[in-house]
Amino acid sequence: MIWNENAECMSRDKMRELQGIRLKRTVEKVYQNCVPYRQQMTEKGITPNDIKSIEDIAKLPFTSKKDLRDNYPFGLLCCQMSNVVRIHASSGTTGKPIVVGYTRNDLNIWNEVGARCFSAYGINRNDTVQVSYGYGLFTGGLGAHSAVETFGGTVIPISSGNTEKQIMLMHDLKTTALACTPSYALYLAEALEQSPYNRKEFKLKTGVFGAEPWTEGMRKELEDKLQIKAYDIYGLTEIIGPGVGHECRCQNGTHICEDHFYPEIVDPETGNPLPEGQTGELVFSTITKSGMPLLRFRTRDLTKLNYKKCDCGRTSVRMEKILGRCDDMLIIRGVNVFPSQIETVICEIPELEPHYLITVDRETNNLDTFEVKVEVKENHYCDEMGKMLELKKHIAHKLQNVLGILPNLKLVEPKSIQRSQGKAKRVVDNRKLK
Ligand code: ADP
Ligand code: ZN
Repeated sequence: MIWNENAECMSRDKMRELQGIRLKRTVEKVYQNCVPYRQQMTEKGITPNDIKSIEDIAKLPFTSKKDLRDNYPFGLLCCQMSNVVRIHASSGTTGKPIVVGYTRNDLNIWNEVGARCFSAYGINRNDTVQVSYGYGLFTGGLGAHSAVETFGGTVIPISSGNTEKQIMLMHDLKTTALACTPSYALYLAEALEQSPYNRKEFKLKTGVFGAEPWTEGMRKELEDKLQIKAYDIYGLTEIIGPGVGHECRCQNGTHICEDHFYPEIVDPETGNPLPEGQTGELVFSTITKSGMPLLRFRTRDLTKLNYKKCDCGRTSVRMEKILGRCDDMLIIRGVNVFPSQIETVICEIPELEPHYLITVDRETNNLDTFEVKVEVKENHYCDEMGKMLELKKHIAHKLQNVLGILPNLKLVEPKSIQRSQGKAKRVVDNRKLK
């Protein structure tokens, strides 16, 4: 199902033309209405007249989280405060919150792209969607909520937490789609298994998961455990919350709503644009927003883009699942490690549960320590030292092969690692404190 065929299946030439027109308009708007933007452009020696087509985007300065913090809370607003109808803030995973104001028009855009997401998953007005993302300053809850109302589905605005009640309502209200973080979905899967109900008594068929990185391995875990189809939804507060991008039935890349959010991939070190297919930092320019439009915003998220037409019929560019944020990359004894690499290995090993915790520390002799705790499945966890040691050796070897470094692996009992109701915290880096 395609919500807006005109926008989602537009030819590449037409799309670029539209993006050019919208970019130009946005640049004019920020130049006129926002002092920090005008200053930055002046420093680069450019004016809105230098932006004639989408290719000219590379002339523009970047915006970063730091710019948002320096202009906290509303210094980058391009409209009168009276036109702001909603405020959201980033959940502060990486420091002080970033505050964003949205106009009525911005919320309309959000609803439009949100409805595109759910339509792409095959969810429609006959569906009942349990929104178990947190409601509040975080964009997840209200974002998914308004999207469902826009296409006319039924929303259960339960927010996150209260897991037993989640299962009860999922059962009693015949929830067909669950929207939450993949880590909370995993927790709910466990709760469902332990509940007095049988899976057959539920109507759940679709998962709408995002707000944190998750691997293909995790998708498989969730699809098996919950017996659903699990789809990615991507977004960030600064741009527009969930709805910036979404998977389709092909589950082969996250389509970006590029008629509203223009993506680029740049080298995270130098900021130089990278060619199609290369992994780098995702950068977005909002080209239709009016509250706090952002030009060339550095997301810190790492991925790559694919401009080939998708089998679903959409022509919109697709991004690969986010590898992680630049800040998520751990450098352990000189080796670069992404938590998502560890997740991939863990999900491939049948004896393991997909629950893990990475702890990095530094010893007095300046050597990094690297510990990975992972849960063993109930039926594989045993007191036989020999068996457990053998399993441990096998897993450690696999991790070393992928990471290039051997972790201190700890196999732990099922359900001993803390579960997450929102964005999971899977890394403890104690070196930062030293
Ligand atoms: P915070 O930066 O405080 O977490 P947000 O709630 O705005 O604030 O989170 C946006 C970030 O969440 C994105 O930049 C990205 O790192 C992550 N994210 C959101 N959706 C996904 C997704 N589908 N896959 C991977 N990461 C995601
Ligand atoms: Zn598609």
